[in-house]
Amino acid sequence: APYRVVDVHELLDSTLVMLSGKIGQRIQVVKDYDRTLPPVPAYPAELNQVWTNLVDNAVFAMDGDGDGGTLTVRTARDGDRVLVEFRDTGPGVPPDIRGRIFDPFFTTKPVGEGTGLGLDISWRIVVNKHHGSIQVESVPGDTRFQVLLPLTAPEP
Ligand code: ADP
Ligand code: MG
Repeated sequence: APYRVVDVHELLDSTLVMLSGKIGQRIQVVKDYDRTLPPVPAYPAELNQVWTNLVDNAVFAMDGDGDGGTLTVRTARDGDRVLVEFRDTGPGVPPDIRGRIFDPFFTTKPVGEGTGLGLDISWRIVVNKHHGSIQVESVPGDTRFQVLLPLTAPEP
């Protein structure tokens, strides 16, 4: 898909619809969107891949105990950047592996369930293709993956 200005909320909504089967009934989705956000210059298909990876990970984390949880998707303006945050109520990313989760092939999932490529690919899409950043903050019950996208990036 070509580089163009996109409405992040449109992309987020379409990803959430695509994943509604996987998200299931026990996970509540809360949309906390800043509707005043301007459109963002981006590769929409690639950004959808990032949202898909982050939602998939959040759902897996919360589904572990069979109790479900809440996925909050928040957007906000941050100076000349747009923040897209995925927050889950799962057990969190243990501190001892936090430095490795963006490495290719790093996974804590059972064999056959995870490739360990989701965050590596997401990193490359956000950082290399969009000149943005991606970071995680996590304590048990509150894990946030934060993507920052510049509003003024030149076409890569
Ligand atoms: P995969 O999903 O195939 O394991 P990823 O690169 O998407 O690969 O994620 C790597 C690892 O990061 C996961 O196996 C898990 O240990 C950790 N992780 C990612 N997202 C979360 C999350 N929301 N909560 C807890 N751990 C997470
Ligand atoms: Mg993953």
